[in-house]
Amino acid sequence: MSLYRKYRPQKFEDVMDQGHVIQTLQGAIESKQIGHAYIFAGTRGTGKTSIARIFAKAVNCLSLKNNEPCGECSICKEIAEGRFLDLIEIDAASNRGIDEIRDLKEKIRFAPNIGKYKVYIIDEAHMLTDQAFNALLKTLEEPPAHAIFILATTEIHKIPITIFSRCQRLDFHKVKSQKMLEGIKKIIEKEGIKIDDKSLKKIVSISEGSVRDALSYLDQISAFANGEEIKFELIEDILGCSKEEKLVEFLNILAAKDIKQTISFINDFIEAGYDLENFIKDLIKFIRKILMAKIGNSSEEFFEDDKTLNLASNFSFEELLFLAELLNNVLKNNKFSFLPQLMLEIELIKFVNNLNLPKENKNENQSFSGKIVSEIKNVLKPSNIVKEKKEEANNEEKNEKTSEGKSSGWDGFLEKLKNQKIVLYMALQGCDFADEGETVNLNIYNGFYFNRLSEKTNRDFVEGVFKESFGDQKKLNIIKAEKKEDRRDLIKDALSVFGGELVE
Ligand SMILES: [Zn+2]
Repeated sequence: MSLYRKYRPQKFEDVMDQGHVIQTLQGAIESKQIGHAYIFAGTRGTGKTSIARIFAKAVNCLSLKNNEPCGECSICKEIAEGRFLDLIEIDAASNRGIDEIRDLKEKIRFAPNIGKYKVYIIDEAHMLTDQAFNALLKTLEEPPAHAIFILATTEIHKIPITIFSRCQRLDFHKVKSQKMLEGIKKIIEKEGIKIDDKSLKKIVSISEGSVRDALSYLDQISAFANGEEIKFELIEDILGCSKEEKLVEFLNILAAKDIKQTISFINDFIEAGYDLENFIKDLIKFIRKILMAKIGNSSEEFFEDDKTLNLASNFSFEELLFLAELLNNVLKNNKFSFLPQLMLEIELIKFVNNLNLPKENKNENQSFSGKIVSEIKNVLKPSNIVKEKKEEANNEEKNEKTSEGKSSGWDGFLEKLKNQKIVLYMALQGCDFADEGETVNLNIYNGFYFNRLSEKTNRDFVEGVFKESFGDQKKLNIIKAEKKEDRRDLIKDALSVFGGELVE
């Protein structure tokens, strides 16, 4: 028998974590105000079905003690053995879901066979069909006094509001690492499994709050070790690299101020099938964990490895806060960006640049932005033509500085664009700039960027900034230019750094 089944909690006190849920349920039993319908919501392996069964025992137990089922009476035993007639478990994910709900509708009127309550546990409730939900709804509208429904789901948002509004919702959170570690240590002692703390922590960490996953890993690994002591190397071989290790690796690259590596790491990560948004979210959570450790408040979570704590000393508290805030902003603005990955990359380049600055200059925009511009240019490898034009423009520009010291001309134009809308600034990288007197031609070779720049809001914006820099006399002409092979290679180079693609 698997460890997960063997050590399935039989009493509320055996459940790892979820104290808030248990308190609510025991409170209901104590005050004799048991609800007729509950929704247990939370990720897999957090104890939803286990607690539902314990609750079914508690409401039917013949000698309840301190709101805890006795575990000894005939009903407790029958439930533990899965043969209690008044506990009906329905797997909504199976094809029989709809039939079972129909069946339920007919039989629910009958009084319980033995117990006080008939308890229906509907697992994966979000998988019910519309028909099944409708049938269920009828029952929930007028539930008989002897019925209790427990809808367990990992996807609460898929439960129709009509059902939702008739249930009491209880949220299961991921099991905290420390609690899981304590719980698993008890199991290991009983089983006589020989495993060290470091290995155990790795198993807990990789399970991400799911007891089921942790015990299933432990099962596989102990079967593999076949009675021998489980070595950390074996864990590493079987479980591979954890997410935390990946995040540590990434933060180390940032700490090393290596822009190229930073960008290529993100590319590799995404190419490996990792979702950008999840990556950012995980990174934010992980930074929070490091921040907590830094202020000495890490009682609930722990790191897989002491190396992570060393990592924390690579960044100042302010730097970590800054990084978390920056990532949060990328997350917020992501849906408005036409290249979300680029947004992340730009922000991280800024961050790395900021790390490079001497302390007194940190976060000061003036010196800061200058560095960003040159760094972005290096990464993007702008074409020679743009460089030349920029040099020309530079020379002219020296005489064109306004009294406020703001630069005008091509450089001023780019500078303003970069400060106001960096994505548009990036889109102009690799383009040709030709001053024809009355008009300035912008030859865009990249079809994707050209289309973006042709959209009215973007175009208006660029023209507005252009006017500020060149005055009313000159007209901006954005041209979709013919592709030149050499130029395309340059753009391709630039894009490959950012993982972009040329649009034909
Ligand atoms: Zn009992």
